[in-house]
Amino acid sequence: MQRSVEIVEVGPRDGLQSEPGVMPTAGKVEFINRLIAAGLRRIEVTSFVHPKKVPQMADAEEVLAQVERRPDVFYVGLVLNRRGFDRAQAAGCNEIGMAVVASDTFNRRNQGVGTDDSIAAWLEIASAARAANIRPQVTVSAAFGCPFEGEIPVERVIEVVKRVAEGQPHEIALADTIGVGVPAQVTELIGRVREAVPGMRIRCHFHNTRNTGIANAYAAIAAGVDALDASTGGIGGCPFAPAATGNIPTEDLVYMLQRMRISTGVDLDALIATGEWLQGVLGRPVPGMLIKAGTFPRPAQQAA
Ligand code: ZN
Repeated sequence: MQRSVEIVEVGPRDGLQSEPGVMPTAGKVEFINRLIAAGLRRIEVTSFVHPKKVPQMADAEEVLAQVERRPDVFYVGLVLNRRGFDRAQAAGCNEIGMAVVASDTFNRRNQGVGTDDSIAAWLEIASAARAANIRPQVTVSAAFGCPFEGEIPVERVIEVVKRVAEGQPHEIALADTIGVGVPAQVTELIGRVREAVPGMRIRCHFHNTRNTGIANAYAAIAAGVDALDASTGGIGGCPFAPAATGNIPTEDLVYMLQRMRISTGVDLDALIATGEWLQGVLGRPVPGMLIKAGTFPRPAQQAA
């Protein structure tokens, strides 16, 4: 049986929220519609956070109202508290992602409350989401290291994973929010999470800050993970994490998976075209490599 990996495209949220400028709503809508046309079926379209904190996401409701709506697409809204969840529900998200940071200091900087309070909020949101027929999932952020506390002990990550699992999420994502993780760490953490919460789906979220993103993605796939976050062009970062840079580029990931005969359902040419479009809109080159190098083999190079 052919293996497949599901890609959650996070460019419209994780990518655009750390852009210095604010992309107009129409640009975001075109970005998302292009992603849908390229075959992506799970897209983190926006976040429902205070517009003063993240002005790039102030038009969350407008984006949801204007994007193409298809019954087979999950329109994921990132939420950090109950107020954000209520907005995501009203805006018509059919999946919500909550983030809980493994480091208490980072959780306070990012969300204004400690990790315990965010876990309590998640448990309430998860049950409210299920009651509203919205799929809830949760990310454990800074699971591979914290910009303020440094190394995060695996035991601490596992403790947070066990507590968020009580909310019965669709899956738990392990996020290398600041791009410090290495493949051996990915392998170890996934093994430990499997022991701690058997049967739980695991997704991974990698940033390429230290050029280990694709290697980490490979380690996750080798460990049996079948859902990964990525952003087209590799745009992104985190405005609250110093020096964090982009996510792993979706098109680079799709290229690797295709060549490994792992299906993603994504049209690579359409995705590259979307990355090129994005470069034009942002007015600068994006970090992704495939956009520069091109795919392989090219049609003319294919054996007759
Ligand atoms: Zn991220």
